Amino acid sequence: MAEIQQYHLTVRTNEMRLNAFRVADAVARRTFDDLERPDTPSLAIVQSAINRYSEEWDVRILVINDRARVLRDSNHDVLDSYAGQTLLRPEVLNALNRQDTTVLRRNDYALNVAVAVHDEISGRVGAILLIADVSDIFDTVAEIRNTLILYSVAVGLLVIVLVFVMSHRLIAALRQIMRVVQRMSMGKLNVRIPISSRDEYSVLSKAFNNMAEKLEQQEKTRDEFVSNVSHEMKTPLSAIKVLSESILTLESVPEEVYREFFEDINSEVDRMTNINNDLLALVKVDQREQTLHLAPVNINELVEDILKRLSPLAEKKKVVLLYEEVRLVEIDADDVKLALAISNIVENGIKYTPRGGTVKVVVDSDHQFAYITIQDTGIGVPEEEQDKIFNRFYRVDKTRDRDTGGTGLGLAIARSTVLLHNGSIRLTSKPEEGSVFILRLPIRK
Ligand code: ADP
Repeated sequence: MAEIQQYHLTVRTNEMRLNAFRVADAVARRTFDDLERPDTPSLAIVQSAINRYSEEWDVRILVINDRARVLRDSNHDVLDSYAGQTLLRPEVLNALNRQDTTVLRRNDYALNVAVAVHDEISGRVGAILLIADVSDIFDTVAEIRNTLILYSVAVGLLVIVLVFVMSHRLIAALRQIMRVVQRMSMGKLNVRIPISSRDEYSVLSKAFNNMAEKLEQQEKTRDEFVSNVSHEMKTPLSAIKVLSESILTLESVPEEVYREFFEDINSEVDRMTNINNDLLALVKVDQREQTLHLAPVNINELVEDILKRLSPLAEKKKVVLLYEEVRLVEIDADDVKLALAISNIVENGIKYTPRGGTVKVVVDSDHQFAYITIQDTGIGVPEEEQDKIFNRFYRVDKTRDRDTGGTGLGLAIARSTVLLHNGSIRLTSKPEEGSVFILRLPIRK
């Protein structure tokens, strides 16, 4: 601020000095003697010159002789005129000593510029004093300062309001999240944080809602799983109950009837044992990496072993089992779990392929993956069921599968195992034509 003021004052001073020299130039051509005498032509010329200049530049002009007496004053106001007075101001005295001087009088905002003037004939040195009102400079600077203060106050207020609003929003958002977290921790998993804006909180809220969604989904899956398990157990249990009650109520029954009933009971127990084993296997693969015992596994040998074990089942069902070895493949895997996964799929192929059909297993690889393809000419899986059959307890046709004795867990086990090995499983199938399951597993580096 002070610099702006100083700059304008300097500009004004320079301008006034130049003007003072112009006046001095006009005066220097007269003698002070001439000027001191009343009604000389020189006096009239000088008087009209300073009047004109004073009006033109808006300054007061004083012509002062070597004894500091004011010879002429452009201000003719009788009360205010210095004409005839001796003006012993520092700037005047300096000028009389040939030292041009500028003084700013702050009480009346008057800028005084005094320069020496020579009477070329007598050699006397007088002074020209220019007095200008510079209150406009001070007014302008004060105005700028006030505007700046006003702006600063406004900006300050705005910042305070913004901080207040933001922190209010921040706290409100956090409170809302806290409320939802508390309700969730009390077991209400269906609550969500309402998302209204697009700030960081909405990102956090979205992430939280996603987590809540997953938790709720998991809870649902768990409930479904438990109810499926109990449902699956209920069927054989009620069959056993009916059979055993009939035995108990019947009197003197021939031994063959007992035998037949016990055989039925036995097969129901087998069924429950199967479900139980599959459940245990599923829980094991679901326990993630730490239960995976990785070691180099020769996939070709593994598949051959599985086919050997399943060949009696295939023979019984009159299904041809084929094996094709395109490449020798070795990968890092948990052989027990992987064997169970593959054998589940091959067993399905045999189960769901009518007499005379074929189940073929192909082992191949490229530079990145091993591919195990299990292909059958069986009943196939309808398009809309193809994703679902990997779900626990899911069966395409419930009644039909009870005869084949499946638990609905085989493919769920297979998929979990393959995922655990960072692999993938893909099914393409057409009803009445057959199915192709492709297992893709990363090759050992
Ligand atoms: P399951 O013990 O019933 O076979 P899975 O999980 O192994 O249980 O299979 C789920 C369902 O997928 C089966 O009940 C069957 O309906 C269908 N499925 C599985 N594999 C085949 C296949 N190769 N051909 C036709 N349907 C199949």
